[in-house]
This record gives sequence, C-alpha cells and structure tokens, in this order.
Amino acid sequence: MLKLLFFLFILFLFITIYSFKKRVDNILDTLFPPKDKKRGYTKNEPDVLVKCLNCGVYVPKRDAVKKIRLNGEVLYFCSEQCKRDYNSKK
Ligand SMILES: [Zn+2]
Repeated sequence: MLKLLFFLFILFLFITIYSFKKRVDNILDTLFPPKDKKRGYTKNEPDVLVKCLNCGVYVPKRDAVKKIRLNGEVLYFCSEQCKRDYNSKK
C-alpha cells in the first residue's frame, strides 16, 4: 500500500514539474521571443508606408520599388510596372 502511495506521489511530482516547466517556457517565450518569430522585421527599416508616385497606392517601405535620383532623393513605387510608367510619363 505504501509503495502505491509513493508511486502516485512520484507521478504527481512529475506532472507538476512538467506543467510548471511548460508554463515557464511560455512566459520566457513572451518575454524573450525566439529570433525566428521576429523574422521580416528590422529595426533599421520599420514598417512605414510610402506612397507610390505613379498610382498613389501606399505600400510598406521594405516592399516598395525604389528609385534613387541623382540628388539623393528616393522615389518609391508599388511595382516595377509603376516605376516604368512613371519614367515614361516624364
Ligand atoms: Zn503604383
């Protein structure tokens, strides 16, 4: 009888430790997210919307097609097609 109680106690202990560990892992994941969850986001280029000069659509800066003018000014377009259209308009 005592052996059975002891066995149950050990089992209970394992379950408690296991669930506790899972909870701690969850908290740690929230506090320090793994790096792969942050993929696609860089601090240097935040998710800013820029306006396409050709059609006026707003696109995320990192997805925009860029054209740098000689004076250093950066022009943004939603697609290569818009960039070409804009160039042919001039
Ligand atoms: Zn466009």
